[in-house]
Amino acid sequence: MRDAGHDAVVVGSGPNGLAAAITLARAGRSVVVYEAATTWGGGLRTEELTLPGFRHDVCATAFPLAAASPFFRQLSLEDYGLSWVHPDAPLAHPLDDGTAVVLERSVAATAAGLGSDGAAWERIFGALSARAEMLAHDLLGPLRVPRHPVALARFGVLGLLPARTLARTVFSGERARALFAGLAAHSMLALDQPVSAAIGLVLGMYAHAVGWPFVRGGAQALADALVACLRAAGGDVVTNHPVESVDALPAARQVLLDLTPRQVVALAGERLRPRARPRLRRDR
Ligand SMILES: Cc1cc2nc3c(=O)[nH]c(=O)nc-3n(C[C@H](O)[C@H](O)[C@H](O)COP(=O)(O)OP(=O)(O)OC[C@H]3O[C@@H](n4cnc5c(N)ncnc54)[C@H](O)[C@@H]3O)c2cc1C
Repeated sequence: MRDAGHDAVVVGSGPNGLAAAITLARAGRSVVVYEAATTWGGGLRTEELTLPGFRHDVCATAFPLAAASPFFRQLSLEDYGLSWVHPDAPLAHPLDDGTAVVLERSVAATAAGLGSDGAAWERIFGALSARAEMLAHDLLGPLRVPRHPVALARFGVLGLLPARTLARTVFSGERARALFAGLAAHSMLALDQPVSAAIGLVLGMYAHAVGWPFVRGGAQALADALVACLRAAGGDVVTNHPVESVDALPAARQVLLDLTPRQVVALAGERLRPRARPRLRRDR
């Protein structure tokens, strides 16, 4: 230790860094978050990108997973200014013929718009959304021993498939296939890769179970609420503070890097096992 320092330093103030910092601060640890940018939030930033007064979410904008997250829910972020806005329908997928296929909160109402594929949609997403609360701990938390292994295994049977295989096996029409493909494309995996179905199932399940809300005032307001929650617990965030190396940080018992694998190598390469470095550098 170089000086009295903190129990923990977190580098990066994205939602994961702030969540880690809040967890530590609420456990009574002294914690500070260093953020390179002038505002906190990482992917939760909102900026005037076009005209003055018009605020745009720069990255994340629809928050089914935040709304369903057991961690975020237990923070009572509404007490720190968070307000969700729920559109009448969570999402719609435009088709080439000028129509759109709509995912409604109700599984039955969504199925009604899918013609002969309605029954399959209702079978899959009816069962999943009924278990959404139960699955949240296992699907939206860190990897650990599952709390509901049977429900998770049932999810895994479909989730391990490539999205294209699932869509072509289960649905026969373009509307249901397109709706599912649009959901699964959020995985950023090619739709013929194994496990690409999983994110489609998760986003569809939570669209029905909790909606796809956005944040009143923009995603930045979610970051602001997280920072207010952190400060109420005794932690702090320092913006405009790029960290060049973990060795340049003030003394701390723990350092958490809320960064991409390549950034981790840049900041802490010498501390990593030599064999780990090339693997992390290859990450895209
Ligand atoms: C185009 C796009 C759209 C998305 N849309 C959605 C959506 O609608 N809904 C949703 O839930 N998710 C969405 N996501 C995903 C979401 O943005 C990420 O899951 C989330 O931002 C990850 O949070 P994080 O805390 O891990 O990292 P980040 O949010 O990336 O935060 C990392 C932080 O570290 C800081 N940093 C980097 N290097 C340093 C350094 N050397 N020193 C100090 N600070 C540093 C960065 O400035 C940044 O603030 C989207 C992602 C993308 C790319």
